[in-house]
Parts: sequence; C-alpha cells; structure tokens
Amino acid sequence: MTSQVGVDTMIKSQSKADIPLPKPRESDPETVAAEIIERLTYGIGKDAKVATPHDWLTATILVVRDRIIDKWMESTRASYDTNSKRVYYLSLEFLIGRLMRDAMSNLGLVEDIREALGSLGVDLDLIAGLEPDAALGNGGLGRLAACFMESMATVDIPAYGYGIRYVHGLFRQQMADGWQVELPETWLAHGNPWEFERRESSYEIGFGGTVDALVGVEEDMRHVWKPNERMIATAYDTPIVGWRGERVNTLRLWSAQPIDPILLDAFNAGDHIGALRESNKAETLTRVLYPADATPAGQELRLRQEYFFCSASLQDILRRHLQQGNELADLADKVAIQLNDTHPAISVVELLRLLCDVHGLDLDDAWEITSKTFSYTNHTLLPEALESWPVPLFERLLPRHMQLVYAVNAKMLIHARKQTDFTDEEIRHISLIDESGDRRVRMGNLAFMGSHSINGVSALHTDLMKQTVFADLHKLFPGRINNKTNGITPRRWLMQCNPGLTNLLRETIGDDFLDDAAKLQQLDGYAEDTGFQQKFAAVKRANKERLAQLVASRMGVRLDPDALFDIQIKRIHEYKRQLLNIIETVALYDQIRSHPERDWVPRVKLFAGKAAPSYHNAKLIIKLANDVARTINNDPSVRGLLKVVFVPNYNVSLAEVMVPAADLSEQISTAGMEASGTGNMKFALNGALTIGTLDGANVEMRDHVGEENIVIFGLTADEVAKIRAEGHNPRATIEASRELSQALSAIQSGVFSPDDRNRFKELIDGIYQHDWFMVAADFDSYAQAQRSVDQTWTDKASWYAKTIRNTARMGWFSSDRTIRQYAEEIWRA
Ligand SMILES: *Cc1c(COP(=O)(O)O)cnc(C)c1O
Repeated sequence: MTSQVGVDTMIKSQSKADIPLPKPRESDPETVAAEIIERLTYGIGKDAKVATPHDWLTATILVVRDRIIDKWMESTRASYDTNSKRVYYLSLEFLIGRLMRDAMSNLGLVEDIREALGSLGVDLDLIAGLEPDAALGNGGLGRLAACFMESMATVDIPAYGYGIRYVHGLFRQQMADGWQVELPETWLAHGNPWEFERRESSYEIGFGGTVDALVGVEEDMRHVWKPNERMIATAYDTPIVGWRGERVNTLRLWSAQPIDPILLDAFNAGDHIGALRESNKAETLTRVLYPADATPAGQELRLRQEYFFCSASLQDILRRHLQQGNELADLADKVAIQLNDTHPAISVVELLRLLCDVHGLDLDDAWEITSKTFSYTNHTLLPEALESWPVPLFERLLPRHMQLVYAVNAKMLIHARKQTDFTDEEIRHISLIDESGDRRVRMGNLAFMGSHSINGVSALHTDLMKQTVFADLHKLFPGRINNKTNGITPRRWLMQCNPGLTNLLRETIGDDFLDDAAKLQQLDGYAEDTGFQQKFAAVKRANKERLAQLVASRMGVRLDPDALFDIQIKRIHEYKRQLLNIIETVALYDQIRSHPERDWVPRVKLFAGKAAPSYHNAKLIIKLANDVARTINNDPSVRGLLKVVFVPNYNVSLAEVMVPAADLSEQISTAGMEASGTGNMKFALNGALTIGTLDGANVEMRDHVGEENIVIFGLTADEVAKIRAEGHNPRATIEASRELSQALSAIQSGVFSPDDRNRFKELIDGIYQHDWFMVAADFDSYAQAQRSVDQTWTDKASWYAKTIRNTARMGWFSSDRTIRQYAEEIWRA
C-alpha cells in the first residue's frame, strides 16, 4: 500500500472516452477581446466599467491559459498513450518570475493580445507589470530549474518539475538608510490564476515515530515505519509552455495540509489554540522558502521540507508508473529522476523505503533500481556548503531512513574495502557518516552513491569536483562524474527581455535563430558593419533609457544613458566579490578627483542583489555600496563622470530590465568558487562585454566568444589554491599598491560612514589579515582591466564589434543545448 490519500479516478469507461475534445480556440484580436470580457464578467464577476487593473490581468491570464490547456492535455495524453520515458526534475527551488509574457510569447500571442486589450482601452505592458514574480528560489540554482523547465518543454521531453509551493517566496528587500530589510513576499495575495489544485493527488507524509521489524515466512524481514506525526501533501499544477507551444509540461508544487484541519474535541473543550496546533504545524512547513546560507535555527524545518516534497514526489512517480501498467523492475527504463543539488538527496532512501517496505522488494534489487533511476547535479565545491544533517536529528525525524542510510553505507564500505588500494582515510571520506566531529549524515555522498550520473555545471567545476569534494568517490566509481555546462533559455533572456534586439536580429539574419540559438552565429559577419553597429547601439541606448527611467522612478536618481553602464547583479556573497568592485569604485573616485584634467569615461556602477538574512558581511557590503553611492553621488567634483546605484529587490523581473541595459557585465568571483554562473551568459547574449575571472562558465565563454572579446583578469583557480595552501601576505600586497591602500584606508577610517566611523573596519581588516577571497591579490589586475575597458569604450567601432560578436557567439549557452545533453547522455529520454 502506498499512502496516497486522494485516488486518481481516471474515468475510462467507453461512453466517456467518446466525449469530443473542446474545439481549439481562435486567437485573432476580436475573439480574444470578446473572451477577455467574458472572463472578466463570468469568471471574475466584474463589470468592465469598475474592473481594476488586477482584474484585467487575471482575465487576460485566464484567456491565455485556455490556449495552453488544449496543448497541455494533448501532451499529457500523448505520453500516456506511448508510455514514453518521463523525466522528473526535483528541486527545492524554482525561480520562475512572471509567467504571462513567457506563455504569450511562446504561443505567439503577444501582438494579438496587445491589440485586443488596446481595443478595450487597456495597456498590455501596464497590466503585465502587475503580475507578481513567483520567487520560489534564492538565485542561480533556482533560476536554472526554471530555464530547464522551459527548455524541456521546448525540446519535447515529457517532464515534470517537482518542488514546494511556498506561500512566501524569497523575501522582498527594502532599504532602510542603506541597510537591507527583509519583508515577506506575498505573491499569492491576489490569487494565482496559473495553478490548478489537484486534491485527487494528495499523499500522506510521516515524521518521527518507530520502526517495527516483522519476521515473516522464510525469515523474510519486513520493516514497518509507524510515524507519530502525519500530514498531507497536496499537488498544485502549473503548466509550462515550450517555444511555439508544441509541448506543455507540468510543474507540480506540493503544499502541506493537516490531516485534521481542527481538533474538534480540543476546541469544544475550550482549547481554541491547541485545536489548531496540528493545522498550523502542517501549514508552517510550506510557508517560507528557507534562505540558503542561514543559521542552524531553521535546520529541522528545512530537513522536514526536503523530506516532505521528496516523499510526495516519489509516491506520485511510483503511482503514475504503476498506473500505466509498468513493473517496478522497469522503473529506470521509464523514469529518470534528476536531483538538483543535494536538497532532494533524501529521495534516494525514500525510494528504497517505498520499494522495500511498501512494495516488498529486497534491498539489493531495490538498490539496483534506485541507482539506475537517479542522477545528481552538484552545484558547490565548498565542503562547508555541502549539506549534512546531525545523526540525532535525522534519526528522530526519519528513523527508517536512518536504518537505510546505515544499510547503504555498509554495502558501499564493503565494496570500497574490496578495492585494495583504498586507504582508511579515503574510506572515511566515502562514508555516509561524517565521524570527524558530532556525527552527521553526508547528503552529497548519499546523492553520489544513489545515482548513476553525477554532473558538474561547467567544465572547470567538473574538473575541480573530481579533484576535491568527490575525489575518493570518483576513484571508487570512475566514469560517473560528467559535465553539463549550464545554459539559459533564450526565450526569456533574449526574446522577451529584449524585444528591440530580437527585432533587429530578425530583420538582419532572419528567423532561424528563434528556433536554434546556434544560428545567432550568422550575426558574426555584421560585427564590423558600421550601419549595423549603429542600429545595435541604438537598441542598447533605448534599453539603457528604460533602465534609467526605472531607477529615476524607484529611487529618484538620474542616470545618463550615454555613460558606460557597468552592472553587477547577483546574490550578495563574499566569493562573488561585490566588495572588489566597490573598492575599485572608491579607487576610481579618488583618481578622478586627483586628476580632473584627464579624459575620464563617464560610468554608472549599478548593483543589485539580496543577502541571506543571517549573513553579516553580505549585509555590510550592501550598506557599504549604499554609503559609497551617497558620498559619490553628492560630490559635485565627479558629477557626470561617476554614479553609483544599488537597486533594491533584485529578482527575475528586475534582471529582465537590467540585463539588456548593460554595457559591461561584472563576473568577478574568486577563481574556483563559482560553479558556473548563468548571469554571465544573460549579459553576453544581450551584447555586454564581460569583465571576469577564469571561473565557472566564464572559461567556456572565453572559448566561444574569443579571448579578444572578453576582459579576463586575476588569479586562476590553480593559483588561488596554491596561494591558499602556501599562505599569502595581503598586507604586503596592499602596501605595494598605492591605489588599493588609499581606497582601503578611506573605507576603513570612515570616510563613507561619518556617522559610524568603525562600521566597515572589520570588513576591511579581513582583507588585511587573511584576504580569503583574494580581493587584495586581484585588485591591481582588476583595476588595470577596468582601464582597458575604458580604452575600448572610447573606440566605439571596436566596442560594438566586440559586443556584437558576444551576441553572435553565445548561442551555445542556450539551455536547449544543455537539456539535449542531459537527455542524451544522462536520461536517455
Ligand atoms: C540569473 C539569475 C541569477 C544567477 O545569477 P549569477 O550571476 O549567475 O549568480 C540569480 N538571480 C536571478 C534573479 C537571476 O535571474
């Protein structure tokens, strides 16, 4: 028995099978306008005369949705009929952003809907801007999951995304006197017309309790887990439309509900709060996206979230597999499950539990099926960032899974000991239990052992994975580690966010690139064409004006669209080195003031990004950016030459405005620390020059765009590793650089924080003392690279030749290419 609560009652009787499908809808502006009015009236219950912009938005989404549903049902039917292999993408995060423009554009409806709304006196762009961002992720990892969902639909792979329907996505960031303040995101406040609640797909999820071992006939031992806490996972489905609307896949997000919404006995006895305890406990589970890099305080909740969504997803996957008439032994032929990082790694033992305890397989067979079904994507090399759970917590919450972890571990360690060339040290690294301090379960090792494929997300990252975190497991299972360099969907990150450039490309090289991003290569021949350069520049200029308007209206700061727009937007993290950029900004400010006679290139430095709420230094870096911005922007001696802006509340929708407006893209992480990056790809595709280190996918970007079309500086990953091992002397480095030492002492002594002169002292002391992130070590090289950018900027023909070549040569970084590689080499789907 599985613990499915609602039963899928698919009606297959003869009479119902003959019910005709609804007629596909026409999408000319007149029909669409009539349908919008109909939805407004009968769907929302509003008279057009009093409808709010939100009502218009909802009505429009419902009309778009109808056109998706036809295709959605067709896609679902087809994979059911052919019993084809399905791919399941398990991710704790999906950073989707808005869906309406994505769906309209992929269905080719944008212009018809614009016209339809226009005939009703409604502006499409205005209502589209009201759609809330579905911000169910922290950053790159969650955005990758969203790009992959769209690409899987585009390249026609029957796929499901599985995750959590957080009531509050990533927090909304506000600035209070330059400090980050976190506010809850309320993306569901106006309802969510994209989702369908599927009450019939609900499953029971247990926690805690005990495990009974039952010895049956022939000493066949069966284990029965008796959880002492139970709740329900209910599915919410969102359709994901592929390019040209050929396939529509499902994103299935789970929401936690209590088994008993209210304990009536307790309530009637007068305990009104206690009566709702169960209900609150369940609902808390899917209330907030737990921020990465946070304190241990919320750890248990996070482990509960992970198990909750994995258990629901696996029960659902097995239910679908069996309902199709398949055998469990054939699971790996019909099902491929991709684990996006270790967050869903508990799935490995959950599948084992379901196969052994519920379906009666023996452990060896179950293990074979499991490891053929799963594959795992690693996103970090930092040992401290690899998930692990204290054994006592794991055991208390998931007692049966703890047993299975031990069983798998015993199997693996026996296997390892049979290889004669394994040292005790290597065996300790392989173990699922970290015994070096308080005992912990290593989720990275579990994901590795339970998968037939383990992939890194850029060539460099994959190499480093083999040499560092998974060196010993790689030795035990050579051939399992492979690379799949990340990509981005060109629909959202070119066609939708940059219609000006898309139109220019269409009129220049035709429409081929719309279906195959590699065809952007045809643009290469126009790189030196003066006429084309002027048009390319005009598009960039219009995008910069659009961003300048946003900054003026949100922040009251005026930007000159003719200045060089230098942009760094991403989560705030020491390894991403926003601090290096800010210090260089301070150094530049000094230089401009000391040498007003020189021809300075006017620059606007733009930053955006959120810091994890518990990450002290990251929050201090935001405050520093704002303090530096205030000082510089108020100094008349650099007016017109330097501006600094920190735009609040970075999210997908803000990225869609900032990326197309960039002249220069900052990708300056400490080499060896950024697994891939995808922000880097978005900018280059939209015609920005990259300044960056040889880190993550920057390395492959250099190979594709050509080294003369990217500005590389700084230490390599090997050099960073060597310096860290041998130790370096940041103080000597700083003292050898006049620009750097002046900039650091200005910040340290409170020039930018006269109200609290010691505010940044510790932050800067860290650079003097250990410089872990190589800010001092890379400073001179970075500053020099920035001046070479200035040089290129003054020669506009050369600038545009380079940036045009970036757009032309970035097609390989389409997530369609990435997904095809996953499909061929990992999923075999
Ligand atoms: C692309 C994207 C990211 C990832 O950016 P990196 O520069 O690769 O870290 C993070 N957040 C949002 C909103 C994005 O669109």
